[in-house]
Amino acid sequence: MDVLIDAPDERAFKECVAYLADEGVPSRVLGRGTNVLVRGGGIEGAVLIAGDALGGVERDANTVSAGSGISLARLLSFCADEGLSGLEGLAGIPGTVGGAVVTNAGSHGTAIGEHLTEIVAFEPGKSSAAIAAGQLGIGYRHTALPPGAIVERVRLELEEGDPEKIRESQRETLDRKWRAQPCGMRSAGCIFKNPPDVPAGLLIDRTGLKGTRVGGAVVSDLHANFIVNDRGATADDVEKLIEVVRTKVREEAGVELELEIEIVGRRAN
Ligand SMILES: Cc1cc2nc3c(=O)[nH]c(=O)nc-3n(C[C@H](O)[C@H](O)[C@H](O)COP(=O)(O)OP(=O)(O)OC[C@H]3O[C@@H](n4cnc5c(N)ncnc54)[C@H](O)[C@@H]3O)c2cc1C
Repeated sequence: MDVLIDAPDERAFKECVAYLADEGVPSRVLGRGTNVLVRGGGIEGAVLIAGDALGGVERDANTVSAGSGISLARLLSFCADEGLSGLEGLAGIPGTVGGAVVTNAGSHGTAIGEHLTEIVAFEPGKSSAAIAAGQLGIGYRHTALPPGAIVERVRLELEEGDPEKIRESQRETLDRKWRAQPCGMRSAGCIFKNPPDVPAGLLIDRTGLKGTRVGGAVVSDLHANFIVNDRGATADDVEKLIEVVRTKVREEAGVELELEIEIVGRRAN
């Protein structure tokens, strides 16, 4: 990227968004960037980090209102402390609440969108407005935000539960992930969405591509839908390996795999 902006508070964040729009500078918001592969040439223009500037979390009865910049881990810890159940299956997903809502992050049979009642979002030059979850076209790993919209806060409806049981359920989710996924290694999580009938990992496994390497990028031996960064992979290595996998699965299984991660930025010269 050309400029990285980590604004200290909400007012400064919004002023930066307005300034960039007025000056015609391309910009995008990222949470922790855990679902993006940034090409070697970087992102054109400015990247705004949704962090502490869009923070805070509170409850009103069974509704939780969370700033988009807080981490999903922080939200889950809050829910456990408050005895609010529903998000336990999301334990271990890195990134922010905003990133989770935009990607409709999920695992273990649940997705954040199932609990979403509304978001508060704004667009450059416009004031903040609530958008009901039903208007967001929420689907599998997908939320249709209005173009240019930046998520400020999200509201989630949860159920009352016992804090200790909620913590235990979160721990079980984490344990299962550590057994089945290369959690200790650098990756962007699952590369491809699961096609309707067969998980992407199983399709890739059947082609025998586990362990296949391009430069420092390797198809994980533990979970074939993960590409791990071993020995300094470049984004270009990862992109080339994605194409190797996609081509083999197309040729052998007749399935066109769709990316779950987002590839952004300019190619390296
Ligand atoms: C090891 C690992 C495991 C993972 N496991 C899972 C899993 O089990 N399930 C799953 O669904 N995903 C998983 N992921 C993917 C990723 O963690 C999730 O998609 C996560 O919710 C993304 O959050 P983020 O803050 O990093 O978003 P980012 O990657 O920063 O952004 C994702 C998208 O949202 C947009 N965005 C982010 N914040 C805002 C905002 N405030 N307003 C508007 N747009 C915004 C960005 O522009 C981008 O388009 C995993 C990733 C890794 C690395």
